[in-house]
Amino acid sequence: MNTLIEKLARLAAGKGRLRLMEVCGTHTVAIFRSGIRQVLPANVELVSGPGCPVCVTCDDYIDKAIAYARRDFIIATFGDMLKVPGSRSSLAEAQAAGADVRIVYSPLDALQIAEDNPRRSIIFLAVGFETTAPTQAATVLAARARGIKNLFMLSAQKLVPPALRFLLGDATAKVDGFLLPGHVAVVTGADAFNFLATEFNMPCAVGGFATEEILIALTSILEQIDNGRAEVANDYRTVVTAEGNVAAQKILSQVYTVTDAEWRGMGTIPASGLKMRDEFAAFDIEQVEPLPPCPLSLVPSPLKKACRCGEVLRGLVKPIDCPLFGKACQPLHAVGACMVSVEGVCAAWFKYGGQHFEW
Ligand code: SF4
Repeated sequence: MNTLIEKLARLAAGKGRLRLMEVCGTHTVAIFRSGIRQVLPANVELVSGPGCPVCVTCDDYIDKAIAYARRDFIIATFGDMLKVPGSRSSLAEAQAAGADVRIVYSPLDALQIAEDNPRRSIIFLAVGFETTAPTQAATVLAARARGIKNLFMLSAQKLVPPALRFLLGDATAKVDGFLLPGHVAVVTGADAFNFLATEFNMPCAVGGFATEEILIALTSILEQIDNGRAEVANDYRTVVTAEGNVAAQKILSQVYTVTDAEWRGMGTIPASGLKMRDEFAAFDIEQVEPLPPCPLSLVPSPLKKACRCGEVLRGLVKPIDCPLFGKACQPLHAVGACMVSVEGVCAAWFKYGGQHFEW
């Protein structure tokens, strides 16, 4: 470990300020937990990116989920989503008011709820990246195979590579290298990120999540910067291949097609989301029972207006730059999604005391 830390110091010496973005929320938490930030050379800054699926899900989606919950559907969701504030309220508040909102650990749990409750309609909140989307697609295929007609998806799955392309097209986002998300790359393959090097000349490394794996990937990025090179180093070869999980990709493309998607803080990013193919429309709640436009989405509360999640997710500001951080916004009474999710940047800063250090 010490050898890697010394190597990082050698590679960074004599260079100006270097901003490296850890794209994935799991990396953000692992980096805080391991204390890596404290041992980085003074001129190397780590900024967090848009890699927390709950955080990048827009208020509009939460508002829709709440609206369906109030219509007597059973809402099945990962626990992280429960407290995410929509424009004016959260699923937790809807649940407290009597809505049937259930925490599940897999979309297959939602399938089981549908089988156990044939007279009720169940909506699974299908939020996530390439990592979780294949299981959601497999659940749809299983529901169809078993003739289950009371399970629906409210889809907001997103694709990571187009979001990074968007970030690099934003002149205000100054990034010198990417620590790429290992879990996403397991499915997409490392090659899915090659455009970062070939089109944008951006040094990158796919990294694992153990302390040593993260340090190795950061060293790879600094080596590229030192040599004036740009490539996608695969430093997570135990699970990531160049082409990724082809079986998972096949299931995904069987059920979903690529579409434009709305990201918190980034607006609509072309070809960055998934939508169900027409043959699976019967499982898409927005096609089966569309909602009228939700006026609440247009009127965020004054506190929500002050939330800087959008800039945090683009690496433009740190959580402590938000005037609400640690005051009006804390994990138990969060104003923005980044303070709710266990992978949220603001939550990680709060939990690990990031505000007490000079980064
Ligand atoms: S501290 Fe809270 S309000 Fe501020 S950016 Fe983070 S989540 Fe939003």
